[in-house]
Amino acid sequence: MKVLYDTRTLAHDTHEFLISRLNRALECPERVMSIVSHLENTHQVVDCAKIETDEELFSLIELNHDKGYLEHLSTVHEKWVSENLIAKTASVLPECFVAPTPSVDGYPPRPVDLFALPGYYAFDMSSGIAADTWNSALASASLASHAAKELYSTQSSLFALTRPPGHHCDGRRAGGYCYINNIAVAFSTLHKLNPKAKIAILDLDLHHGNGTQALFYTVENPCYISLHGENEFPYYTGFAHETGSGQGQGHNLNIPLPKGTVGEEYMVALNTAVEKIKNVGAEYVLVSMGFDTFEKDPMQVFLIRREDYKQMGTVLKNLGLPTLFCLEGGYCVEELGQNVEALIQGFESS
Ligand SMILES: [Zn+2]
Repeated sequence: MKVLYDTRTLAHDTHEFLISRLNRALECPERVMSIVSHLENTHQVVDCAKIETDEELFSLIELNHDKGYLEHLSTVHEKWVSENLIAKTASVLPECFVAPTPSVDGYPPRPVDLFALPGYYAFDMSSGIAADTWNSALASASLASHAAKELYSTQSSLFALTRPPGHHCDGRRAGGYCYINNIAVAFSTLHKLNPKAKIAILDLDLHHGNGTQALFYTVENPCYISLHGENEFPYYTGFAHETGSGQGQGHNLNIPLPKGTVGEEYMVALNTAVEKIKNVGAEYVLVSMGFDTFEKDPMQVFLIRREDYKQMGTVLKNLGLPTLFCLEGGYCVEELGQNVEALIQGFESS
């Protein structure tokens, strides 16, 4: 299986506010660097940094994200630096969020205060905007889009090492280390090439892909299926009763699993997901692939072992559908490369 990355995604390096402390974000460039260095001698690993970002990419991103939000992501760091609010090496972090207010109908208007904007366009404090965040997020989305085009033209499965990840951000809010929803951009790319094809998005990150669910909750295509930790971040979504609405009714499947879930239990849930993918008649599978389910991951929620990733690869290969994996989470940097390799081996060995 071909593995794609983009060296431009490595520039993004930011901070997060976690347990009352400002830390360097767990989602760091070393994640992708460790996967590439582990795989490059044994697999076909391609740097896509020469692919230019063009109007077509922007139009695909704008199908999923509000223009004002994208303008904010691309300009806020420079504005804060020029107003002497932060140093050039620091990250923009929000302070005041939009919270549900009984007296306000819908989403409030965009604030005029430069200081208020980061909270208007985010839902948490784990997605600092640093000097290179926009360019890396754009390169990550470009990688997802390019991979979707290649999936369509070759009908061969591939793995895109997207970072920053994407599944937590919705139309206008960054969060959970995510700025542009890469898997949504991959979907839009594929959907534009083949509007009639039914596409399934399978989210195997430890955390519920609240952003992806929000983007596609009312549509029939794609079908969104997620296996994730029950009562974990992002806390307010991912319940089994969230099944889609309107045209999307029945096309959203959440399978929350308890803390301490082991490989055997995970495979039962994965088989339920696979049945759903078959039942909706999917012709392509886009996988939001997280490795923060790993037993040694600092998240410490699930107990998935390396051999389980291999088995996941085999189960997905047996679907017999062109499959694109986009990287989401996974923070045990030292073993991330081996885990990606295990998944690929399982996929290729079946
Ligand atoms: Zn995650």
